[in-house]
Formats: sequence, structure tokens, C-alpha cells
Amino acid sequence: MSASTILGYAARAAGQPLEPFTYEAPELGDHEVRVSVTHCGVCYTDIHAIDDYYGLFSYPFVAGHEIVGYVSDVGPAASGLKEGDRVGMGWQGRSCMSCEWCLQGEEHLCQDIADCGTWTPYGGFSSSVVVDGRFVYPLPDAMPPEVAAVLMCAGITVYSPLRTYAVEPARKVGVLGVGGLGHLAIQFAHALGCDVTAISSSPGKKEQALGFGADHFVVVGDEAGMKQLDYYFDLLLCTAHGEIDWESLLMTLRKKGRLVLIGFPRLDLKPIDLVAHQLSITGSFIGSRAAMRDMLSFAQAQGIVPQVELTPMSEVNEAIRRVRDNQARYRIVLVNDMDGAWT
Ligand SMILES: [Zn+2]
Ligand SMILES: [Zn+2]
Repeated sequence: MSASTILGYAARAAGQPLEPFTYEAPELGDHEVRVSVTHCGVCYTDIHAIDDYYGLFSYPFVAGHEIVGYVSDVGPAASGLKEGDRVGMGWQGRSCMSCEWCLQGEEHLCQDIADCGTWTPYGGFSSSVVVDGRFVYPLPDAMPPEVAAVLMCAGITVYSPLRTYAVEPARKVGVLGVGGLGHLAIQFAHALGCDVTAISSSPGKKEQALGFGADHFVVVGDEAGMKQLDYYFDLLLCTAHGEIDWESLLMTLRKKGRLVLIGFPRLDLKPIDLVAHQLSITGSFIGSRAAMRDMLSFAQAQGIVPQVELTPMSEVNEAIRRVRDNQARYRIVLVNDMDGAWT
């Protein structure tokens, strides 16, 4: 196999199992780098994409956007990176760099965001990826690759809204859902000095949630437990998806409290609950390049460590099945086992 051939795992059509797929490495643009992938996390967004939940994709489609590896080729204008550098990257692999959002350092809000994914043209379930070097982050030496991989998407997704909204005097934080995102949100909120309550539909996750740093644990549907949370939270971070009992959850927010959505739950809200208590609902999407760098150093300093299951990349379909079935504890990271597929 030539050095310019990339081996990946692609869905040939929406919702299909992934199959081995080879493609020629794209030419490097001026600012682009090629990164040989050693590790790639499996995020629920990958599965949404494979299923074409957003109606945006063409096939064959290679998912994967929690990537760690080594720089193996550098475009002529890519500064600050050299071959052999150990780096990570997340969902965003490029941006237009000229719209109002890019110019003010909020590249994750780029006007052309639909074209900015690391998986364009092909993502991290691959021997290598080509992305804009300005969206590639050198990693702290002591940070294990599987930890860095998960921080690249799950980490920034929870850190960015907590850093923005969990500030004095808003210090009582509820985390709805204790999964790949939620178990990291608990750790970050705890490290930021917040009073943290984990809310889960799984009673069996209590010990682990407390171990991640939650001060309190409440089971969804436990009326007495939920009643104690009336008007309690300044901030409620929703990492869950699917059906949610919004009426009881919104009761947990203080007047003028804020619900932050980082997943895609079904939303069924009564206007009176929002209006009468002057609540805010905010969506939050990954984070800027500055927030990524800040998140990495904060996580390293505070010992934020996702709980990870390692799986060979060749078993990606089994990994996806486990994520679909809510069996991952709490994040699966694929380890590239394609010996000789890249140099
Ligand atoms: Zn993701
Ligand atoms: Zn832009």
C-alpha cells in the first residue's frame, strides 16, 4: 500500500455497518497537515452521522472526530507543527477564517460550519486524516492518548458552556445524564468549584457519579428526590437525548435559571414554565480554538480523566453497537490496529 493510500472504515449507505475502505490521500492545502491516527473516540454524533440523522451526508462516509495521532506531513503555510508532533483534534477540522464569527475568535460558529467537520472528506476511523493545522492541538506530554481523544469532543462540549455560564453567583449545576458527556461534565463542574448534582435514569450509576465528583445524585422519576431540587439549580446541563420529562426538570431551575442543551433531546416545553420563571434556554456547540487550548491545560492541571474502554479499530462495528445500546462505560476509544497501513 502506498504512503498516499488511506485505509478507513466507511458506511456505504445510511445506517449500514462500516466496511474497510481505501482512498487516495487528499493533496495538502497550504495550511493543512496530515495526521496519522493512533486513537479515535466514538461519539454519539458519529452514529447520528452514519445514520444520516442530519440529512447532510454523502457516502461512502467515514466518521470519527475524537482524534489523537502524529503529524506525518505539513503543508507549506502550516506553522507551529512539524512531523512527529503528537496532536489531537475534534469535530472541527477547518473554517472559512473570514466570516464575522471566525474573525472574532468563535470559529466553531463559522458561517460555513456544515463544511468544517474533521470528517470532511473522511474522518478519524482511518489510518490518517487531513485537516487545517490551525485546528490541530499539541497535547500535554503526560496526557494519555485515550484521555486526550475523548477531551477533543466530549471534553470541549461540556467544558465550554460550564466555563461560560457556571460563574459566580451561578454555582449550583445539574448534569442530566451520566454518560460519555455527563461523566465529564460532572468532573469539570466539580473542578470549577460548583455544587454538582447528577441526574440519571440509572440508579446503578450513583457510586460512579459520586466518584466523578458529584455532590448529590438523583434518579429521574424519583418524585421525592426531584421535589428536593425545586428551584435549586442555576444551571442545568442536558447531556441526555430521547424523551425527557421537561415539566419536572424545569421546576429544578431557580428563577432566571438557564437550561443548556448540548445533545438533541426531544423538546416539549410549556411556554408558561419559561415565561413565569424567566428561564433561558441555550444551545452550546463544541468550542473555539482558544477554549480548546484552555480546556486541555485545565483538564491536565485538574486531573480530569474520562473513563474509557479501549477497542481495536478493526472492531469498530461492535463499538458502535455498544454505544447505540448504551453499554459503553463511559466512552469507547478505538486504537488503530492497521499495522503498516500508515508510515
Ligand atoms: Zn463528538
Ligand atoms: Zn467562518
